[in-house]
Amino acid sequence: MTKLDLLRFPLIKTLLRSRWPQFLVRLLALAGFVLAVLAGLLGTPVGSRSFAIVFVWILWWALLMLAAVPLFGRGWCSVCPIPMPGEWAQQGALLGPLQALTARWSLGRPWPRRLRGIWLQNAAFVLVALFSARVLTTPLVSALVLGAYLLVALVTSLIFERRAFCRYLCPVGGFIGLYSQLAPLELRVRDTAVCASHREKTCYNGSLEGPYAGYGCPWGAFPGGLVRTTSCGLCMECLRTCPHDNIALNLRLPGADLEQRRGRGLDEAYKGLIMLGSALAYSAVMLGPWGALKAAAFAVGSLPWLGYALGFLTLVLGVLPGLFLLAAAAGQRLAGRPLDRRSLKQAFAQNAVALVPLGLAAWAAFSLAFAASSLTYIPVALSDPFGWGWDLFGGAGVGWTPLMSGAVPPLQVIVLAGGILWAARSAVDVQGGRAALPVIGFCLLAGAGLLWLLVG
Ligand code: SF4
Ligand code: SF4
Repeated sequence: MTKLDLLRFPLIKTLLRSRWPQFLVRLLALAGFVLAVLAGLLGTPVGSRSFAIVFVWILWWALLMLAAVPLFGRGWCSVCPIPMPGEWAQQGALLGPLQALTARWSLGRPWPRRLRGIWLQNAAFVLVALFSARVLTTPLVSALVLGAYLLVALVTSLIFERRAFCRYLCPVGGFIGLYSQLAPLELRVRDTAVCASHREKTCYNGSLEGPYAGYGCPWGAFPGGLVRTTSCGLCMECLRTCPHDNIALNLRLPGADLEQRRGRGLDEAYKGLIMLGSALAYSAVMLGPWGALKAAAFAVGSLPWLGYALGFLTLVLGVLPGLFLLAAAAGQRLAGRPLDRRSLKQAFAQNAVALVPLGLAAWAAFSLAFAASSLTYIPVALSDPFGWGWDLFGGAGVGWTPLMSGAVPPLQVIVLAGGILWAARSAVDVQGGRAALPVIGFCLLAGAGLLWLLVG
């Protein structure tokens, strides 16, 4: 399969090699992030008028799920402002490399081996999801959660080396990594033999001297060993430190990573199930007609909320994994493969690739609905971010109108149908023919549930 290395274009290479364009975008994103926190702390408590809610949970979320992740994979991670203060502290420089590798304000400890993988990211996502009805609608709570992200990222950077927060803790980074496998973009090396003979491996270890001075991979990845996009944050630091011009940024067929069998564990399978279950739950709570469910999800700490929390946990950690295990086991049986514990574990992890396209389709369909119904909040929140009666850009008076309401349901059907078909194709690639039917059945069931919740 042919790939197009975008770094063959001198303009793209120059823009990505320089730290300035990325730094400026991140600075802008950090300014937006800080404004969102301030708006949540000091501004109006009305969610639909607050910059904290509208900018983060409507504009950013919709852009992330509908464009950034499907097209650029981990592209958002390369400009995300959350790890910035921690990285500055670690590196002792704003832009680097300067005196970098020596002037660090961090203990630089390696992340504990037994905490590797994305289990903690799964737990963090589930924790936030339990409170999400509040987080996504109440500016003060949203600001506190965003502030906590920044603080945890900073403290993590002061204790551990590299971007441990992004790789092991960030609940958003976890699902971006999972779904980045579908993107038509990947960072790889041009020739692994060149890497094998390059003793210094400056892309991983960093380099202080010359035109290739820079940090070792902030994500702790070795570009020469990358076979999937999940652990590469597309920060482009290796492009700056590789003296052999061996880094490629390829345009590829979407979903090329799904063919890769290596490195798939239970943590990633659970991530796929948690994301799918959350899409079902969010669709029911936020877009469904059940007032009592909405009220229960919102009344954090009350008895109804405890019932909601229990139901959510049972769905994402019990019912869906249980059904998926049954489907994977049935597939094993149909294929005449062993059903011992080890084989089942492996089948569960491998079959979970089908959840990747299905999950992203679910979130895209969900995001289409709430983005279309909330887009008119954007000019209001931009013109009056604190809800203090300002009108900076003349948009404060825009009234609420749902947009594209006729076009959204057919679009959701197309997106979900595409996700189910892609999931079925991935299941066939893993199990082969008839043996894939149980997992395809699982995906159809989940897809039908989403269709019912979203389109009715
Ligand atoms: S610095 Fe370049 S050539 Fe050396 S190991 Fe890294 S990617 Fe390969
Ligand atoms: S492999 Fe390169 S682009 Fe990817 S995270 Fe590491 S340094 Fe950044």
